[in-house]
Amino acid sequence: MNIGVLALQGSVAEHLKMISSVNKKIGAIPVRTIDELASVDGLIIPGGESTTLRRLLDSFKLYTPIKERIMAGMPVWGTCAGLILLANRVEGETPYLSLLDVDVKRNAYGRQIDSFVGEGDFDNMYINMVFIRAPKITRVGDDVTVLAEYDGTPVAVRQDNIMATSFHPEMTRDNRVHKYFLSMCGKE
Ligand code: GLN
Repeated sequence: MNIGVLALQGSVAEHLKMISSVNKKIGAIPVRTIDELASVDGLIIPGGESTTLRRLLDSFKLYTPIKERIMAGMPVWGTCAGLILLANRVEGETPYLSLLDVDVKRNAYGRQIDSFVGEGDFDNMYINMVFIRAPKITRVGDDVTVLAEYDGTPVAVRQDNIMATSFHPEMTRDNRVHKYFLSMCGKE
């Protein structure tokens, strides 16, 4: 099995390392081209800057191929900026992929200097949650399951093959959220 990490901008190396740490037999592949996308069984859209990622996805001609793969059932996980790209509604902006029935508000946890580590339950596992200029999920659709909350607000959600987190599990030493995603992709 191959798992891709969209490698245009953001925390790519950290995700690739985490995937390999769960299972060395899984190929951890940086994805920049349509061919690389076609070779993976699941995709992580990392954190970074969503406006930059939108531009680069357009210029690398990846918008339609990624959207089609996700609509066809490929497991995808958006962290932070990745969540913004997947959301159906983004406050004050045009949404991008519009595949996940949530509303988000960018930078709602404050500026870079307000970054913090919270903790809480993710699918019955107690984990640390690293927030870096994170988006806040302000509405969750009926078909969306909340996997984790922080301070009464959803911070990890899932809708079928789509998972998204406001926080950054790849910035910790705990690979259990990656393990969860890999199990969505059919293997641990
Ligand atoms: N603030 C970024 C944005 O709005 C997201 C931050 C992140 O991915 N760590 O796109």
